[in-house]
Amino acid sequence: MKLILLGPPGAGKGTQAKRLEDKYGFVQLSTGDMLRAAVAAGTEVGKKAEAIMARGELVPNDVVVGIIAERIEQPDVAKGYILDGFPRNVAQAEALDEMLKGKGTELDAVVELKVDDSILLARIEGRAAETAGGARADDNAEALAKRLTVYHEQTAPLIAYYKGKGKLKTVDGMKDMDEVTRQIEAALGL
Ligand code: AMP
Repeated sequence: MKLILLGPPGAGKGTQAKRLEDKYGFVQLSTGDMLRAAVAAGTEVGKKAEAIMARGELVPNDVVVGIIAERIEQPDVAKGYILDGFPRNVAQAEALDEMLKGKGTELDAVVELKVDDSILLARIEGRAAETAGGARADDNAEALAKRLTVYHEQTAPLIAYYKGKGKLKTVDGMKDMDEVTRQIEAALGL
């Protein structure tokens, strides 16, 4: 199963991806996690990404496309994977399509977690307050608001992109976590 979880920051993509990983063995591939690891390790990629991430903007496409291209070649993803936070714009989606085509395969589905902005703003402000001075450099109100704007401008067009390819399944991300998991499983026939 090759899957994308699509949705705005704070929609619960990471939580749901982790659940699907635990239950079905599909590997969660979060470009955000990989970039944060690169920043922590002080690699070249990390140095390029750090300030951009702190502002809530997107890291250049070639960087994230390169990371994913390398990652999906690893043997541990043979059972399948869940892309969480990638692709973030149409150019990345096209690069992914090409990558998969080159391997003679394609995505199984794209699951959109749909959440209203008003709920997201409340969730992300809560997260900013919770982690003040803590784990993530981009969990401050300003960067979170920027990430939401970037989502609408650059990532939301992927909804139409994948709908056009007949891959899109939409789930109500405002329900409680267990119900969202059930809806995802139903949408995927799991
Ligand atoms: P996330 O953990 O998915 O919210 O990602 C955190 C940050 O990492 C984003 O705000 C971007 O700066 C960067 N990032 C993660 N995934 C991507 C991507 N696919 N393309 C560009 N930047 C990304």
